[in-house]
Amino acid sequence: MRISVLVAEDEPDIALLVKHALERAGDARVKIASSGDAAVRAALEEAIDLVILDINLPVLNGFEVCRILRQRPATSRLPIIMLTARTGEVDRVRGLELGADDYVTKPFSPRELAARVRAVLRRGGSGLSGDVYTSAHLSVDFAAIAVTVDNVPVRLTRREFELLACLLRHRNRVLSRVRLLERVWGGDQTIDARAIDVHVGRLRAKLGLAGTQVETVIGFGYRFIDDVA
Ligand code: CA
Repeated sequence: MRISVLVAEDEPDIALLVKHALERAGDARVKIASSGDAAVRAALEEAIDLVILDINLPVLNGFEVCRILRQRPATSRLPIIMLTARTGEVDRVRGLELGADDYVTKPFSPRELAARVRAVLRRGGSGLSGDVYTSAHLSVDFAAIAVTVDNVPVRLTRREFELLACLLRHRNRVLSRVRLLERVWGGDQTIDARAIDVHVGRLRAKLGLAGTQVETVIGFGYRFIDDVA
């Protein structure tokens, strides 16, 4: 699956350098935001998998953006790599204290940045270690394409697995039907909203006790919640 990376950087040549580094390294699609407020908006509204966040940004600086994203449930676990021109330890510590997952100091090597992105995505958020997701009832092995509920294997179609993987990778965040259509069906125009609902319904039924983790957000779409209280 292609990952979506948001690059929050106001200097166009650095933003483009990062974009090229990540797109060359493989399956990344990069979106650029050139101010802090635009970065917050994009992170909240779009299906972003990781943010590369410059500190010196107009309107809201990187620290403020990081704090806001960590406070919002939809982005509280969104991986963030801080990008800073400064080498001061204070900035690095502050970024990590605010919940950034890693930092890269400018000038950076594009290859190093791409490696950091891969490492942060591998670590994932809570419940996702390496290529395996686990919750109270559910276990999903992305590499083996294997799903179990209470240790009993569940047979999913390829589409159902992709749907589950997409919801899981953006868990705790609402995915609209339009996003799901783009991500899981490649924007296939012959699929309508009701067909997506049918697929989600089938997936939910197959997941049994873990099915309650797939939540309907009326009027918007669906959200995979990490664990049911
Ligand atoms: Ca900057």
